[in-house]
Amino acid sequence: MPIRLPSPLALACAAALLAPAAPFAQNASPSPAEPPSSPAAAVTAASAPAAGTTAGPLASLPYTPVLDPSAMDTSASPCEDFYRYTCGGWQKNNPIPSDQASWDVYAKMAQDNKRVLWGILDRLATETAGRTPDQQKIGDAFAACTDEGAIEARGAKPLAPQLALVEGMKSKKDLPAVLADLHASTADGGLFFGFGSGQDYADSSRVIGFANPGGLGLPNRDFYFKTDARSRELRDGYVAHVARMFVLLGDDEANAKREAGVVMAIETALARGTLTPVEQRDPQKQFHKATLRGLQAATPDFRWKDYLDRAGLAGSDAFNISEPRFYTAFEQQLRTRSLADLKTYLRWHVAHASAPFLSTAFVNENFAFFSKTLHGVPELAPRWRRCVALIDQQLGEALGQEFVKQTFGPDLKAKTQHMTTQIEEAMESEIKGLDWMGPQTKVKALEKLHGIVNKIGYPDKWRDYATLEIRRDDYLGNVERGNRFETARDLAKIGKPVDRGEWGMTPPTVNAYYNAQMNDINFPAGVLQPPLFDSKLDDAPNYGNTGGTIGHELTHGFDDEGRQFDATGNLRNWWTKKDAAEFDKRTTCLTDQYAKYVVVDDIHINSKLTLGEDLADFGGLVLALIAYHAEEAKSPHPDTVRDGFTPDQRFFIGMAQWACSNERPEDLRVHAATDPHSPNRYRVNGLVANFVEFEKAFNCKPGQPMAPLKRCRVW
Ligand SMILES: [Zn+2]
Repeated sequence: MPIRLPSPLALACAAALLAPAAPFAQNASPSPAEPPSSPAAAVTAASAPAAGTTAGPLASLPYTPVLDPSAMDTSASPCEDFYRYTCGGWQKNNPIPSDQASWDVYAKMAQDNKRVLWGILDRLATETAGRTPDQQKIGDAFAACTDEGAIEARGAKPLAPQLALVEGMKSKKDLPAVLADLHASTADGGLFFGFGSGQDYADSSRVIGFANPGGLGLPNRDFYFKTDARSRELRDGYVAHVARMFVLLGDDEANAKREAGVVMAIETALARGTLTPVEQRDPQKQFHKATLRGLQAATPDFRWKDYLDRAGLAGSDAFNISEPRFYTAFEQQLRTRSLADLKTYLRWHVAHASAPFLSTAFVNENFAFFSKTLHGVPELAPRWRRCVALIDQQLGEALGQEFVKQTFGPDLKAKTQHMTTQIEEAMESEIKGLDWMGPQTKVKALEKLHGIVNKIGYPDKWRDYATLEIRRDDYLGNVERGNRFETARDLAKIGKPVDRGEWGMTPPTVNAYYNAQMNDINFPAGVLQPPLFDSKLDDAPNYGNTGGTIGHELTHGFDDEGRQFDATGNLRNWWTKKDAAEFDKRTTCLTDQYAKYVVVDDIHINSKLTLGEDLADFGGLVLALIAYHAEEAKSPHPDTVRDGFTPDQRFFIGMAQWACSNERPEDLRVHAATDPHSPNRYRVNGLVANFVEFEKAFNCKPGQPMAPLKRCRVW
């Protein structure tokens, strides 16, 4: 899983992680979708059969309505606990499958999408006659990935070339070239640091080299320093896991233990130099332009010229050192560690990066710590699903074309495009009417809004995989060539004009994002399906749900992070001092509100980390509501009462039902530390509590939990 992030400010939204999580990704949650609700959630962690073992491939997507009365628990009061009212039935009927960290509407959709992809891949793996070049690649990649006999027989052998490269280092001077090669073959920022392309923060039309932090095995820097019992236990478990991996590589127990200690010491030193997740939300803290000379000065013991030459970037002279303090820590490790220690560290990360693609012993050991211990997942995902996820990750636009053909026709594209335009019009009227924003800032805000590019469904131009060789009999070779292809594709962008048509998510992905430097919103075909977008039902729940998501992404352009970028995607302040102060005052209301909510045990929401998402949820619902009422005012057949619910009630229920979920406590803890989204329960209850329209729709009494006397209002 590439950890290097070509666009650090692309915000993955409805789901938890910036990089869509694949079950092969060691550092990511095994679930592609959102986490948390409170410990009070009625149904948690009840074990259900592995979702993958009871299911087969699908020829088409199943249908669930955008408003599902059977998902509700009408014994609850909407004014006391709206989340339970809308999702209580869903929680009861949908225990977490044993191969998932959590389970929710998005995860279920992702599972359905994967089953459709499974059907496509199964066919292309067996019927080999008449395949297009792209179909050959995805079909044979699937055949190789599902050939368990061949994978088992090769054991750890596929690692030999990478390990030989590490062993062959004669001095620390060899490190840069070796590292460039390992970065390409693993596409993994776990090896000391991440290096990739990115848009210059000061000039978004330019692509430059980004030297990012990296080098950690645990989910983020905080995991190395927290002192509570669970965190200490996790660190012990991690070191024991690293030692067991060294044993699998053939080392004896005593050596393996010592080596694991070295790995932990190096990673802890690198973690100490890394910014906290909240600090990383500040683009000003992430932008430090440098020439090659400046980059070299940051790490005197690491010859960047050798790294860049090997990476095919000779002559590059424009870089962003996103976290200089990290590189100081890296330099210190280089200077003070022996060559043997550096080799030990590299051997671990090479094995770690490839573990999911090796024999059962490696796969199981990797699963035992990164899924079971860390996220509480009882069972490994079935192979078909891990293979679908891998191909989606490595050949996502070849596979995505097949998915689009089957699921996303021109009619659906037109409908979702229409809704997007409606939401943008709502934002225009909202900005114009804001009483706290001055005219000067408004002009710039509207300029930014008009500059936003809407990307719906799939890219206009598909990625070209012609130079990627996929063989039916070489699984790890395919993975490695796929990594090298992606690394080369990414690095080739440096020095060229930015490609504004590029997508950061594949078409089947159940997620969406706003990218501040591109100034675009992106909705893959996978997220524009029932039950999120349902052309069979009325407007109300559709505007609440998908309308809210579109509004959410738009609002990211104006959240605490996005608002620092202008219409062309440059990091440039366009706010007057007074308006910026007014904005901060209003967002403080939200951070205070969300900080009160409990995620699990005594862990509260880190509301400075979740502010951008909480703001986007808020703005999204404001815009969806305006757009819905505007649409109804024009409609010859306005919505009426259905299933006993008024149109406005259906709007709010439709909104809330995207978030129905069950979570494991282990997973909740990881997300509390890493996830910029609040738990789903509060993404519903915390949100509606700020809307007087909600109070009216459900006739709540002022002072009830969902109708507080004091509300926050930003947009
Ligand atoms: Zn978001």
